Amino acid sequence: MRYSEMPVETRKREFEAVKKEYEALLQERMSLDLSRGKPGQDQLDLVSGLLSALPDGADCRSESGADCRNYGVLDGIPEMKRLFSEVYGVPESYVLVCGNSSLNLMYDAVVRAMLFGVVGSERPWGREERIRFLCPCPGYDRHFLICETLGIEMVPVRMTPEGPDMDEVEALAGKDPLIKGMWCCPKYSNPDGCTYSDETVRRIAGMKTAAPDFRVFWDNAYGVHDLYEGDADELSDVFAAAGQAGNENRILYFASTSKISYPGAGVAMIAMSPENQAQVKPLMGIQTIGYDKLNQLRHARYFKDAATVREHMKKEAEILRPKFGAVERVLSENLGEAGIARWTHPKGGYFVSLYVTPGCARRAYELCCGAGVKLTPVGATYPYRKDPDDSNIRIAPTYPGLDELTRAMEVLTVCVRY
Ligand code: PLP
Repeated sequence: MRYSEMPVETRKREFEAVKKEYEALLQERMSLDLSRGKPGQDQLDLVSGLLSALPDGADCRSESGADCRNYGVLDGIPEMKRLFSEVYGVPESYVLVCGNSSLNLMYDAVVRAMLFGVVGSERPWGREERIRFLCPCPGYDRHFLICETLGIEMVPVRMTPEGPDMDEVEALAGKDPLIKGMWCCPKYSNPDGCTYSDETVRRIAGMKTAAPDFRVFWDNAYGVHDLYEGDADELSDVFAAAGQAGNENRILYFASTSKISYPGAGVAMIAMSPENQAQVKPLMGIQTIGYDKLNQLRHARYFKDAATVREHMKKEAEILRPKFGAVERVLSENLGEAGIARWTHPKGGYFVSLYVTPGCARRAYELCCGAGVKLTPVGATYPYRKDPDDSNIRIAPTYPGLDELTRAMEVLTVCVRY
């Protein structure tokens, strides 16, 4: 029965029962964790072959002839460019293969724009009195931390199941020349798991912006992370849409193999138009003589082509489906009837977003902490760590084992009811 429809007496009894349940949980002195958006050990074990992709005595030359053991080749070896291009459907000539982290590339891209501007800037962004970024939220906390650290004002934009609210985005970016950028996690977004609709992609790529040097930080971190074969979300081609609108310089496209191979020991890319590359590459060349090409070679030899990556991601999905299934089951069994929460049903990615009754997320979080279940701090998914509704809780089901995950979810639902 919905809590709002319960007669007072029933409600009192329910409260006493939940309170008892919570107090019993405290006795268990648990230590569980639902906060880690990283692969479980069994996922990491799937790619062990990567460690021996360059055995003792292996030929370490790229197909271009470059010796990957030595300096040089700033923007990556051709076989890794081709692999990224095939996997993400971006033009091969747009791909720069870099280090181990796309977040690092995003940070560098923003800092570069602050110091030097981008193609079309009148002056470096950092020389403006202030600048702003549109921040669809809930979103990825580390995007917001980049802005906060660099003093970029964040303008929250509401997320819908189709992506950011585009009426709001167009109205804001269309009239404020100080809005220079926008964060996007377009497929299986962190944390809602939503995929931007074709219409949303088209509008982001084509909209009029007051700033001539507006940039979209297109972070496709979960671009190949489908859970259900035959029922995957499709993300439309942002470079094609931007090209048609004459805005191809607008898009800075990021991805990495962090959640395909090893987080922190994978390979990252940034893809951008030739004009953007002509501005960026000389600056990148001052930062480094070249990234780790041996890791690029290892990845290119191990994964070979997009078909091999897809096969590998099916195995990842086999491990993850039962975990997402357990989250869904516990939420619907324990919260389905009470009418005090809703949650997302992602078809991929790494997260489920739980929305509790406004004003209750922080309290539920504290109760969870008290019972030994760690969650992503509430508010972290919003600019300045402020969820205006105090409602969103990010659930990260991938890292714990199935039993630990199920138990942690049970505790979470008791805390939400309490
Ligand atoms: N972007 C999003 C949306 C993420 O969720 C994450 C990791 O959780 C990252 C980027 C980090 O990617 P990388 O390991 O390539 O820096």
